[in-house]
Amino acid sequence: MHATKALAEADRLMTVCNSCRYCEGLCAVFPAMEMRRAFPDGDLNYLANLCHACGACYHDCQFAPPHEFDVNVPKTLAEVRNQSYAAYAWPRAFAGLFARNGLVVAIAAALSVAVFILGFVAWHDPAVLFGVHAGPGAFYRLMPHNAMALLFGAAFLYAIVAMAMSVRMFWRDIGPSPGGPAGLRALWQAVGDAGRLRYLDGGGVGCFNEDDRPTDRRRIYHHLTFYGFLLCFAATTVATGYHYVLGLEAPYPWYDLPVVLGTLGGIGLLIGPVGLLAAKWRREAALQDEPRFGMDVAFIVMLFLTSLTGLALLVLRETGAMGVLLALHLGVVFALFVTMPYGKFVHGLYRFAALVRYARERRAFMEPAEVPETVTTGQGGTRP
Ligand code: SF4
Ligand code: SF4
Repeated sequence: MHATKALAEADRLMTVCNSCRYCEGLCAVFPAMEMRRAFPDGDLNYLANLCHACGACYHDCQFAPPHEFDVNVPKTLAEVRNQSYAAYAWPRAFAGLFARNGLVVAIAAALSVAVFILGFVAWHDPAVLFGVHAGPGAFYRLMPHNAMALLFGAAFLYAIVAMAMSVRMFWRDIGPSPGGPAGLRALWQAVGDAGRLRYLDGGGVGCFNEDDRPTDRRRIYHHLTFYGFLLCFAATTVATGYHYVLGLEAPYPWYDLPVVLGTLGGIGLLIGPVGLLAAKWRREAALQDEPRFGMDVAFIVMLFLTSLTGLALLVLRETGAMGVLLALHLGVVFALFVTMPYGKFVHGLYRFAALVRYARERRAFMEPAEVPETVTTGQGGTRP
């Protein structure tokens, strides 16, 4: 007995696939499936989060619709995956946020914070809001650094705690890991697999998105978004070190490390999300979990807006537009932080946890010497 219809359908499909095994060379899902005889909910959530939605097994499947077996693994695993985000949400009372219109919630939160900052500054001294400020400490004329650090530190800390609790629930639900405590080699393997999106390549030919012609576009846009995000995070971390360790106040010159990292990351976060949105828009309907389209879009749009307002602030920081742009940027970043645990961001965390689990299972079920990096299959793909 399963908790949802999607989980029951995933159980049926995994049972069919476990008899067929034609797709075992395409990604990590099928080898992980083959290590099981039964599929309780926790295992299905694990397999769903191991799936990178490359679409290859739908196009390769001889039992896909209109066949009476009606096998559509990518769509069913997408449904299970999306439902798992709500199932592991912390606190549980906020699980419903995944089902609401994420984009409206995130934009409303961003505008609320921006309007609050603008209203507060305008009420105190409108000249500060529309004045031209330059040199170290210019940003803090609008909002004192300590207030900024407190507000955003609290939002970020909340997001970290909420996501850590969710991943903990997921890790426990997928059952005890074979082979004892996590080995560093398994962890390193998972870092490598996540860092290069190893399983978003359709078994070596590329990702199937809008038709049966695979391309690497989705993987490239995903990389730009992921590494753009990491660079922006690195920029913020370095800037925090500059402020508290070196006593240097923002804004920094364009050639300084926080600005260089932030600019490169910002460019990635402009191009990547636009590409992902376009890919999502064109994605074959048969592969999509339609009801969750809004939640996926919300996170991508918020990343894009974070970058857009950040780069606009960089270009116009020595003009009278700085005050309004800074308030907008802070509002968007705040909304991004507080909606992070209840949006698409969590897919990266669950997927990484699933990759760690998979690397451990493989090492537990195979002698280390048997664990291959990649093996070319007869289907022209690569076996994980
Ligand atoms: S998706 Fe289809 S072809 Fe692939 S293993 Fe499952 S049943 Fe077989
Ligand atoms: S990663 Fe690709 S091949 Fe593997 S289950 Fe998901 S959609 Fe199918």
